[in-house]
Amino acid sequence: AEVAEFAAVGSARGVDVYDPQADPHRPERLSLMSELRTAIETDALELYYQPQRRLADGRIDGVEALVRWPRPGRGMVSPEQFVTVAEETGNIGRLTRWVLARGIAQAAELARTGQPLRLSINLSARDIGDTELPDHVAHLLRVHQLPATALILEVTESAVIGEPEAALQVLRRLADMGIDVAIDDFGVGQTSFAYLRRLPVRELKIDKMFVQHLATDETDRVIVRSLVELGHRLGYRVTAEGVEDEDSIAFLGEVGCDRAQGFHVDRPMPFAALAARRAAPDAG
Ligand code: C2E
Ligand code: CA
Ligand code: CA
Ligand code: CA
Repeated sequence: AEVAEFAAVGSARGVDVYDPQADPHRPERLSLMSELRTAIETDALELYYQPQRRLADGRIDGVEALVRWPRPGRGMVSPEQFVTVAEETGNIGRLTRWVLARGIAQAAELARTGQPLRLSINLSARDIGDTELPDHVAHLLRVHQLPATALILEVTESAVIGEPEAALQVLRRLADMGIDVAIDDFGVGQTSFAYLRRLPVRELKIDKMFVQHLATDETDRVIVRSLVELGHRLGYRVTAEGVEDEDSIAFLGEVGCDRAQGFHVDRPMPFAALAARRAAPDAG
């Protein structure tokens, strides 16, 4: 029954169908997926939040939500190990809706304490083809009384290239609601400027591949400087991710990058730690 359902969800959405016969890791994946679905249904996942620093004044002005799965007996499982499988088995919609619900509820909680932060949430390629998503997001924002401008939705370049028409429609509706769309992992995909110029994008996130070694790699410095300039000329805000040292922060400030995110700014942390930090008198 599980297998039939995976396939049905996949084909109903018009995306790749999970073919269990062709999957050599089938038993492992099926147990991973049924455990993940239970974890979603029982609210057993967690969101960690990684602060983003505005370089103009050094203040923390946003956080990116990153999902975590405390899997019994396996420790904290990284999203790299289950997001792709969730996509391939037709379960990403459930996961994304859980992340949106939890993230929006917690952002609203922070806003009530008088320390609002903009919240970035990752969408997967499949989500962008889900034409019910904009109404669902609008509903969550209404229920939790969070303004749409507090939300940024991150999509990758490949997501947009995969399903151009449906994606355009979904992203335009989200943008019309006042939500900012960010292009994630910018620079590593098959960047198609043809699509980029048609999208309602407000932010570019430069992939950490180009940022991690800024302090020592001259080529990376040329690339990052150019991407910041490109983003600004297109009217986008630019965030660099994977910032791991002070020299990189200094360089990013020099070239006019808007925001920095990375271990040097702060690690992803549980909501309670973020809330405690925001409550401190010197909260950036
Ligand atoms: P991403 O969206 O590119 O997120 C940034 C990743 O880089 C995070 O890994 C973060 O912990 C890590 N990171 C942050 N600062 C640094 C740094 O200074 N150096 C290095 N080396 N890494 C840094 P994480 O949390 O393991 O997430 C991995 C990927 O999983 C994310 O990449 C994103 O594509 C996906 N993901 C995470 N949460 C979600 C979610 O809720 N929904 C979806 N669809 N995907 C998610
Ligand atoms: Ca991201
Ligand atoms: Ca990224
Ligand atoms: Ca990534």
